[in-house]
Amino acid sequence: MKLNERGLLVVLSGPSGVGKGTVRKALFELEGHDLVYSISMTTRPPRDGEVDGIDYYFVDKATFEAKIENDELLEWAQFVGHYYGTPLDKVEAQLKQGKEVVLEIEVQGALQVREKMSDAVFVFISPPNKEALYRRLLRRGTESTETIKKRMDKAEREFPLAHKYDYIVVNDEVTNAADRILAIIRAEHAKTERSIHKYNEMLEVNKDG
Ligand code: 5GP
Repeated sequence: MKLNERGLLVVLSGPSGVGKGTVRKALFELEGHDLVYSISMTTRPPRDGEVDGIDYYFVDKATFEAKIENDELLEWAQFVGHYYGTPLDKVEAQLKQGKEVVLEIEVQGALQVREKMSDAVFVFISPPNKEALYRRLLRRGTESTETIKKRMDKAEREFPLAHKYDYIVVNDEVTNAADRILAIIRAEHAKTERSIHKYNEMLEVNKDG
């Protein structure tokens, strides 16, 4: 018996360079779950190998700003000169269908979701130490020194915000981090406050029958 009707919104966040994308992909490769990924919208140009509609919806600035204007985004942020945001309609539709929807977003956006959807689960992905994060950013190789510096400065401001999240998962090893996130999602699902309503309904039905 499934005791939850509305799906669960899972927000994976943390400083740039912590490996959120890699952990999210590893999470989706694990067996035994039915998670759906919310594809973000961005004005950043695609990197080599990125596909529109799979990695992101790549749009121009005017299109993105119209989405902001029309309240069509659950959250959005500017990150190193580009817009990033979560299309609201798809997330809502999937939650209504009872799906577990995963967002992988930067910290400012996560804090906006915290305001709007307080029943979501917030997971802060942390590096094992700061040096590991800086090494990762430098290794990435797809960005200019100036962009890397901006990402490092932003990470420095975001480290102290972890206390606003429900869980902290250290990305010491990608599959371990993904395993821990799946365990968190399972436990959240069973939380009394999420399932008591449906549970009580079940008791009522049995009483009549
Ligand atoms: P990248 O350019 O490396 O793909 O992403 C830059 C940052 O933007 C990453 O920290 C990524 O998690 C974040 N990001 C991706 N999609 C969204 C989104 O929809 N909203 C917000 N706020 N951040 C996002």
